Amino acid sequence: MELYKHQNIKIYNSLSKSKETFKSLEEGNIGMYVCGPTVYSNVHLGNVRTFMSFDLIYRYFLHLGYKVRYVRNITDAGHLENDADEGEDRISKKARLEQLEPMEVVQQYTVDFHNIMNKMNNLPPSIEPTATGHIIEQIEIIKTILEKGLAYIVDGSVYFDVLKYNETAQYGILSGRNIEDAIHNTRTLDGQSEKKNPQDFALWKKAKPEHIMRWPSPWSDGFPGWHLECTAMSTKYLGSKFDIHGGGMDLKFPHHECEIAQAKSCNQTDPVNYWMHANMLIMNGQKMAKSTGNFILPNDIFTGENTILSKAFAPSVVRFFMLQAHYRSVLDFSSEALEASEKGFFKLMEAVNNLTNIKAGRTSSINIKAWEDACYSAMNDDFNSPILIAQLFEAVRYINLLKLESATLTQEDLDRFTTLINAFVFDVLGLENNVKKDTSSQLGAVVEVLIKLRNEARANKNWALSDQIRDELLEKGIQLKDGKEGTTFSIN
Ligand SMILES: [Zn+2]
Repeated sequence: MELYKHQNIKIYNSLSKSKETFKSLEEGNIGMYVCGPTVYSNVHLGNVRTFMSFDLIYRYFLHLGYKVRYVRNITDAGHLENDADEGEDRISKKARLEQLEPMEVVQQYTVDFHNIMNKMNNLPPSIEPTATGHIIEQIEIIKTILEKGLAYIVDGSVYFDVLKYNETAQYGILSGRNIEDAIHNTRTLDGQSEKKNPQDFALWKKAKPEHIMRWPSPWSDGFPGWHLECTAMSTKYLGSKFDIHGGGMDLKFPHHECEIAQAKSCNQTDPVNYWMHANMLIMNGQKMAKSTGNFILPNDIFTGENTILSKAFAPSVVRFFMLQAHYRSVLDFSSEALEASEKGFFKLMEAVNNLTNIKAGRTSSINIKAWEDACYSAMNDDFNSPILIAQLFEAVRYINLLKLESATLTQEDLDRFTTLINAFVFDVLGLENNVKKDTSSQLGAVVEVLIKLRNEARANKNWALSDQIRDELLEKGIQLKDGKEGTTFSIN
């Protein structure tokens, strides 16, 4: 079904800093690239939010009947500790510290990343290429940029010449940085660097003797600069111009700015029509940081093994919570906010379950078409999931009215309503109706009531009833123990 033909999607484009009507390069097809994780540690919760945001976008496009090629890479080489092209490779460093092969580090954290993505019900991308799998393509791009005179070689390393590029193009077009100001404000190089200008960035770095991850190239045994892999892989799988490029806000500069410069130098065209950036995640109003202890790993949220949250939260509840904020807003993660979302989640799922028992009437007293239009409008407006969720709670209200027979729907409207709710809740938002309510506290309260009734029976010397309560509870695995402080219980 080509639903997209009837929808007018607006996307906030980071390049124009405005909402633009979305039109794909090829009708019915979308090419989308999202910068994936650097697999040297467990995936950060902030990154999980970014990938989930693009999963929502991917899911909505699929729902509308688009054919999407969604490419999300794995960075398994070339990402140095800092953005100044100095320092150790993040994966090599981890491998050295833990006495592992770099590829063991890569494997361990790729598996962790995929586990978390699965738990959060993110669909896998169409292609998940790795940097190390595309060294040849990266070398070819460097050769082309050198041929164009937009890069230079120093002692086996190759650097992109930002000033030269800026003569005919605009470096800073995405991040809004003015290159002239940057040059003016930067002190001259301290002599340590081989670069002509501090703004230049590495396309290829000659490996120092201790650097483990290295490949042969026409210039030296070394490794590609971090920004290059995304240009190589997006060009290879999506072409020199494609529809959407996404990533976290922190990647806008220098990573995405450099990607534009490389691709434009190589292919003579702006590579991307719509640049999209997901905002960051903070916790309890502050930046998440291991050093301050204001930090949590995704799995620790699901198991409850942490000192930050009041209890464990299911992945689908965490997903629902994240979707209640728009992807371009800062998301504040806290126990209270998660608890509130959990209540809403169960309310929504209960309504979805109740929907199957609703019987159709002869007339419709609810305007389902208007509700449908409001849902699509929300998603068409730059994928506004919080507004869509507000519409779903409006649907919960309808379901409760229908259940009480205070409202009616014709069979046709009821079928349409049911189809749409399922589509939005499960296909588009990607929620799962498999979370069990934690009822242990309610169970404890019920046992306390029975203990109280037993005490009353004993006070009335009704030994038969008091024994019956004790024995029947024991049969169900609940053991009562009478002590000086009163009666306690244990559940086996
Ligand atoms: Zn990238």
